[in-house]
Amino acid sequence: MSGRYAILCIDDEETILESLSMELGGRFPGVILELLQDNAEAEALVAGLLASGIEVPVVVCDYIMPGRRGDAVLAAIHRLAPAARTVMLTGQSSLEGVTTAINQANLYRYIAKPWDKDDLALTLQGALESYIQEATIQRQNQALKELNEGLERKVAERTEALRTANAELTEANRKIGEYLGIIDRQVLICRISRAGLVTYVSDALCRRSGYSRADLIGLNYWHALYSATTETLMRDILARIERGQEWEGEILHQCRNGDYYWAHETISPDVCEDGTILGFTSIRQDITDKKAVEALSVTDPLTGLANRRQFQQVLEGEIARARRGARALAFCLLDVDHFKAYNDHYGHAAGDRVLQQLGRLLTESFKRGCDFTFRIGGEEFALLFPVHDAEEAAATAAALVTQVEAQAIEHAFGNPGPHLTISMGVRLIDPAEHALDMDQVFEEADRLLYRAKREGRNRFVMHDGALRPAGTA
Ligand code: GH3
Ligand code: MG
Ligand code: MG
Repeated sequence: MSGRYAILCIDDEETILESLSMELGGRFPGVILELLQDNAEAEALVAGLLASGIEVPVVVCDYIMPGRRGDAVLAAIHRLAPAARTVMLTGQSSLEGVTTAINQANLYRYIAKPWDKDDLALTLQGALESYIQEATIQRQNQALKELNEGLERKVAERTEALRTANAELTEANRKIGEYLGIIDRQVLICRISRAGLVTYVSDALCRRSGYSRADLIGLNYWHALYSATTETLMRDILARIERGQEWEGEILHQCRNGDYYWAHETISPDVCEDGTILGFTSIRQDITDKKAVEALSVTDPLTGLANRRQFQQVLEGEIARARRGARALAFCLLDVDHFKAYNDHYGHAAGDRVLQQLGRLLTESFKRGCDFTFRIGGEEFALLFPVHDAEEAAATAAALVTQVEAQAIEHAFGNPGPHLTISMGVRLIDPAEHALDMDQVFEEADRLLYRAKREGRNRFVMHDGALRPAGTA
């Protein structure tokens, strides 16, 4: 309480002020004792104290004074310092005056003159403490109010943020629902449990296959797939997905009504973070139309080379032409080495890119009008080109084998080297050979290719005619 408080005593009689000063001076340490004789200055004095940061917790005032009565003075001070405790000190007062003081100045106490010293001191002490207590409570209340307002503001902000987030989430959920609906309607999709049982089929798949959900849910997917594939393919699929890898390929499926449809199918394991396989998802694309077009066309869609269909037409024609022109032809069957391992390790798509690269290489290396290049099956290619003699055929074949290896296509399971290689069977067609048919040429080239594989791959094996002995690279 270092000078923040002042007790104001107002009385027109100097002797009274002197006794108050004696009695009260030093009684309230740190509290200023202000004595005022002329009550006309009361408001100015209080206003001055307040302006300099000094509160006026207690005012003691005489009742009968010249100019104004004590109740009027206290009422005026009350308006300036509403919390001040007012004490009226008088020998003669009317009931009306006390009532006014009570009503307008929030009179704390009325003390009769002559007063009892202890009573006065204790009254003022009590008034001072009650003022300070009230002020403290008010400050605490104010602090609490501010804290509360701060909290309310924060709650309002958070609520607003949550409302926004919630709206965004609802919108995202709606979109996901919409997309899932589209997927369900448009994509041939099927989910399979770890044990191989169908747990979900899309509407689109039901529509394409003619089966209802009830028909398919709970079926053993692998059994169903087995009837649509070969045993080798099935083993390939299972081996891949059991390793946690994706399998991709073409499968001919049967509909409920007995019709067939071709699907490009991707079966991917649903793997959780620790590598455990939870189940599988199969996504099919209906490629029946594409297959039909392919079957009619003479070009292989992957490599752009002539396909097997064209191969059969060309081979027959070219053999007949060569025979008429008495020209030798080289017929080569060419097969990628360890391509299954390549697919398994790098994926089917990477395998496709290798086939395309080989296709380009063949097109560039055999580009004369009389050269023919074919993709006759998966990773098997055929070449047909005129040659002068066996040496030329051998040199060309050797150059191709070297060229493929020189592409340096990384093959982790390549054998003999670290790069992807090919093996070739080369069957020379001598125009003098009679009674030679296409199937026979093909079979012999295939046997030579098989020998090249057996003898270590990355090589060719050539047979330069039925009458002469076989030679190897
Ligand atoms: P080898 O050296 O004895 O020829 O072994 P290989 O693994 O190459 O032979 P195999 O006949 O066992 O496997 C051929 C593989 O070629 C099987 C299949 O994964 C792959 N394949 C066949 N057609 C395609 C195709 O169009 N694209 C891709 N990426 N792979 C194909
Ligand atoms: Mg093969
Ligand atoms: Mg092969």
